[in-house]
Amino acid sequence: MKIYNTLTRKIEDFVPNEEGKVKFYTCGPTVYSDAHIGNMRNYIGHDVLDKTLRYLGYEVTRIMNITDVGHLTNDSDYGDDKMVESAKKEKKSVMDIARYYTDKFFIDFDLVNNKVPEIVSPATSHIDDYIDIIKTLIEKDYAYVSDGNVYFDTSKLTDYYQLTNHQEDEMVIGFRDGVEEDLSKKNKTDFVLWFTKSKFDNQELKWESPWGTGYPGWHIECSGICLHYAGGSIDIHGGGVDNIFPHHTNEIAQSEAYLGRKWCNYWVHNEHLLVETGKMSKSDGGILTVSLLKEKGYNPLSYRYMCLNSHYRKQLLFSYSSLNSSEQAYKKLKNKISLIKDEGSLDEDAFAFYNQKFISHLEDDINTANAITLVYDLLKNELINGHTKLELIKNFDKVLSLDLLKKESKREDHDAIMGLIKTRDNAKKRKDYELADSIRKDLLEKGVALVDTKEGTTYKEVGV
Ligand SMILES: [Zn+2]
Repeated sequence: MKIYNTLTRKIEDFVPNEEGKVKFYTCGPTVYSDAHIGNMRNYIGHDVLDKTLRYLGYEVTRIMNITDVGHLTNDSDYGDDKMVESAKKEKKSVMDIARYYTDKFFIDFDLVNNKVPEIVSPATSHIDDYIDIIKTLIEKDYAYVSDGNVYFDTSKLTDYYQLTNHQEDEMVIGFRDGVEEDLSKKNKTDFVLWFTKSKFDNQELKWESPWGTGYPGWHIECSGICLHYAGGSIDIHGGGVDNIFPHHTNEIAQSEAYLGRKWCNYWVHNEHLLVETGKMSKSDGGILTVSLLKEKGYNPLSYRYMCLNSHYRKQLLFSYSSLNSSEQAYKKLKNKISLIKDEGSLDEDAFAFYNQKFISHLEDDINTANAITLVYDLLKNELINGHTKLELIKNFDKVLSLDLLKKESKREDHDAIMGLIKTRDNAKKRKDYELADSIRKDLLEKGVALVDTKEGTTYKEVGV
């Protein structure tokens, strides 16, 4: 498989540390508010990568954290803790907020058919891991205590910017934009590993540490959780492009300083979802979530379909008109598939040919748009029997997860309608047009319009 590696800025052959096995870490959500559809695009991207690796036969262990402590308003180490801010606003405890938004996150995660990683762990359950790593970093002289906080000393590294390839000055300007300078740091890019000086009133979550009562910095969470579950090395680490700096840059710094060697070989980042107004987060006074799309009447899988039709490394522009087009195309596709008759025996050559094509699209830096186009090509191919088509689609859907074979039935009387369609088909074959017509009329009175197509009869709901 070929995949774009942010670390080398190249498309590379994927070779895991251990043959046949992949350890894959995804930065999880910060649970102080809802995850918007742009966040969910990132998780869809990683879900497809995860499922592709499994489709190729790898044994995958996927790990994801839940940031329930220590995430700050600004990506640098200053400002108000988002969890604390949210708890204040909603008059709940920090842990109540975290649980509430964690549950909501996984509802949306599931609505777009993402598979829950094998290991999901909240940041608050690994405090001892962070303390151990920080102790070692201080012993190795990569970290120092200053005015009560523990900082990572970025000047000790020769390649702090290995992930970004940016000029130091350029990065630091962006980094410092609107940020109050912390005079306790030795270098501008140093970051906090452990806070004992809380910048917030009534900091609820605090733990004992060798440096005093306090709480961990954000970046150390991911290193701590990843090292805890994956051991000393990980094959793939991913997140959104906005994680590259400073979050992933700092994760590499502290993990590699701690280990004394390379930590992760492949860094995979998903691009942003944009909206026409430029701003993603607000809509109707709230955050635009997958659940909200569902409430508006959209099938959440239309959104997945929309995401898969664009490459994960390209920015995707969201609008309701593009979502409407995606929903229409997705419904049409499902309808076409629903009309395939399971006839014939498996055509092994055709199966192997299409399956190999599908794999080659995914192996091409996860080209999901081409993989979907292949489904359309397959449907058009009249030389392949229905059974083979259905077998192929069933397999493709292990990666695409678009429920391509799942019968869409919002009506409770779906089976009864399908039975009547069959009776009508038989009546027409017998040239009993009177019966056929009365079935059609009766159904129409119940708001069901029959649609005759080349592949057979289906129905749609209409206003009565
Ligand atoms: Zn992370």
